[in-house]
Amino acid sequence: MAKVKPFIIGTRNAGEFLHAGAKVLSNGGSAIDAVEASTKLVEANPKDDSVGYGGVPNLLGKVELDASIMDGKTLKTGAVGAVKSYMHVISIARMVMEKTPHVMLVGNGAELFAKSMGFKKQNLLTKESKAAYQSFLTKYANLPKEGEKPWYVNYDVDFGLRGWYDKLTDKQHGTVNIMAIDKNSDICSGVSTSGTAFKFPGRLGDSPIIGAGNYCDNRFGAAACTGRGELAIRLSLARTILSYMENGMTVREACARGMKDINELGEKGGMNCLAMDNKGNTMSASTSRENTHWYMDVDSKAAEQRKGIYIPE
Ligand code: ASP
Repeated sequence: MAKVKPFIIGTRNAGEFLHAGAKVLSNGGSAIDAVEASTKLVEANPKDDSVGYGGVPNLLGKVELDASIMDGKTLKTGAVGAVKSYMHVISIARMVMEKTPHVMLVGNGAELFAKSMGFKKQNLLTKESKAAYQSFLTKYANLPKEGEKPWYVNYDVDFGLRGWYDKLTDKQHGTVNIMAIDKNSDICSGVSTSGTAFKFPGRLGDSPIIGAGNYCDNRFGAAACTGRGELAIRLSLARTILSYMENGMTVREACARGMKDINELGEKGGMNCLAMDNKGNTMSASTSRENTHWYMDVDSKAAEQRKGIYIPE
């Protein structure tokens, strides 16, 4: 197979940050370094309210982050979930992949690991994410009167967990997906998010679940997801999209089919995917909107916006 010119792609919120990864690739660096470099910039961007610093808090007002990274050459992968107080969860996930015999660490264990790897603790709440939480409390939470149980103990009783979730969280979430192929034709995909808004503490979405929110394999390509994570988990969506490609579909057909599978669940909550094959074709798709993604290769001067496909119900 002819070699593909190294390139990097990302979801809508990654456009201005792909330069960092493209630079890694044009200096002859690896897809893993490229994906990590660009993802870290998104994580550090306080204006992105669903990833890293300034991410949307959980039900108790704490930012809790999920991330995963996968190496398409070895199928090694690392993931972390429900991590508080560490911004660069993509790098912690990479350390899980490279330094431990494990694939996934969550909560306190992931934080202990981050600390032992030398990551620095920091506050992840910005003025804006605090304000978002305050407005959530004001609008939706029944604050306890004296002697009452805290409102979140009754959370599913008071609001009906499912209805509450459907009503509140549809628009308040987001994730960054970034994937790249390097000069050795090695592919890497990375995903990072603060998950769904005001989620129950400890809730993991699709992003840290390998096969659900993220998957790559040098033999075929890569796929990753954003949107209502529970749905992607139920369909093992990223791996499924890759399997469609493995079984002969184009990237476009595989993305469209993945979104159709989501629609067939008949559930509330949108889903989006980003995918590439190992020949250089890229695509994104969504069940809820016109979709776009960003592309840069080693000769690009600027990120190019590429149109995806909309697969409504
Ligand atoms: N997929 C993420 C999650 O469910 C959130 C999102 O992308 O909107 O945690």
